[in-house]
Amino acid sequence: MRLAVLSDIHANLEALEAVLAHLEAQSHDALVCLGDFVGYGPDPNECIDRLKGQLRAAVVGNHDLAAIGARPIDDFNLFAQEAVLWTRQVLTNTSRDYLAALPERADVEGLLLVHGSPRMPAEEYILDTRTARASFVADGFRIALVGHTHQPALFIERNHRVSARGLLPEVSVPLPPSHRYIVNVGSVGQPRDGDPRASYAIVETEAPSVTLHRVPYPYTQTQGKMQAAGLPVLLGERLALGR
Ligand code: ZN
Repeated sequence: MRLAVLSDIHANLEALEAVLAHLEAQSHDALVCLGDFVGYGPDPNECIDRLKGQLRAAVVGNHDLAAIGARPIDDFNLFAQEAVLWTRQVLTNTSRDYLAALPERADVEGLLLVHGSPRMPAEEYILDTRTARASFVADGFRIALVGHTHQPALFIERNHRVSARGLLPEVSVPLPPSHRYIVNVGSVGQPRDGDPRASYAIVETEAPSVTLHRVPYPYTQTQGKMQAAGLPVLLGERLALGR
């Protein structure tokens, strides 16, 4: 099965539409989302509506939990806090119910889906091999799919050793069964690896492999909507930088 994996949409409808259009040209059997549907961006309800009917599975992210009041926001930076408060005001009951029903973990064809890490699903950032190792130890998954850091990456475990590597767009990376993997697919709606293009991945489950895709989108439209909504200027500016 070819699984299209999206994460961290962050209410960016222009980025989401660009990814869905790109996906039409890729063969895939199912679509999943690793959470953070909302937060930061101007179109939370529209992004949920656009995606929810076509998802095989989805898990909840920390911004989704914050937006429905299921998590405190005092550890978020001030811009993120402001965006959460704005999102709470505009979320429809239908969107809130959808986010509230999302699980923290899901399994699709033997792949573990979480937002942050297998060890602390909605919250932990895996940014180094030490943190990745803790999840390899804590959980028996073979391949875990994560987002949350907004930086695509691949962590590989073999004989209790963990290494990390980047993922280049359009390069298929095999995931042979002799090793275990944590695959970070990056962010659709707010990339933070210096590349402003939307990020997503396709994971092949039979002869396992992962291919990252980067898709340009008209972020000036998103910035205009954010300005009109009164969302923090800095959150718009970072879309142009991919930071
Ligand atoms: Zn996020």
